[in-house]
Amino acid sequence: MSNRIIIAIDGTSSTGKSTLAKRISKKLNYIYIDSGAMYRALTFYAIKKKYISTSHFDKFKLINDIPNISIDFRNNPENNNFEVHLNGVPYEINIRSLEVSNLVSEIATIDELRKQMVNVQHFLGNSKGVIMDGRDIGTVVFPNAELKFFLEATTELRAKRRFDELFLVDRNITYDQVLDNIKLRDNQDTNRKHSPLKKANDAILINTDNLTLDELELQLFSYINPLILKNL
Ligand code: C5P
Repeated sequence: MSNRIIIAIDGTSSTGKSTLAKRISKKLNYIYIDSGAMYRALTFYAIKKKYISTSHFDKFKLINDIPNISIDFRNNPENNNFEVHLNGVPYEINIRSLEVSNLVSEIATIDELRKQMVNVQHFLGNSKGVIMDGRDIGTVVFPNAELKFFLEATTELRAKRRFDELFLVDRNITYDQVLDNIKLRDNQDTNRKHSPLKKANDAILINTDNLTLDELELQLFSYINPLILKNL
């Protein structure tokens, strides 16, 4: 009997979801899917096509263009991570910019796009053995996931973590810019009409404020191990 499961990790930005999901996927030999990277890749595309900027958003042009957009994940043999590809091209670095971060939650409100992304996510989860992080994984994408976590942390701590990461690649970025971006996205992600960020009733709530990554990993494994060992 297969003991491979689907693990959903949701929560606000920079709570440590992706770092933990990546670590756990390597230990379990599961596929890790960063669903936020899909919305970021769509945003990168919309910026390039000039459908969206800080002063305008031509939502209908983007919706009409959906048939020309393909998002998938392919293994990067250098780090053995599954990385997002937009129309066959990897954009892992470009999609992490503040420009993309400031527009992505607007793009993520579009239901037509979300439906396409959920199709891809279902396809990726088909064979189980998947750990996926995002905002709606436990509520909308995999409501029957065997295990769901919801991570939270204070806004200031999340901004500090994100700032430290971004500052390594962009010395012009300021803490306040990052804090503003996190507040903006929290607000948009929580209050949007379709698939808003919220904890699934059966998700396990984890506060990541005062724990190291090692401690968090241990805590998550204390829920994962009994489930994956059950059917051995
Ligand atoms: O996870 P990350 O912070 O990279 O996600 C970027 C944005 O993508 C989120 O702020 C949210 O607007 C959107 N998103 C979403 N649903 C997901 C994952 C991400 O709407 N499942």
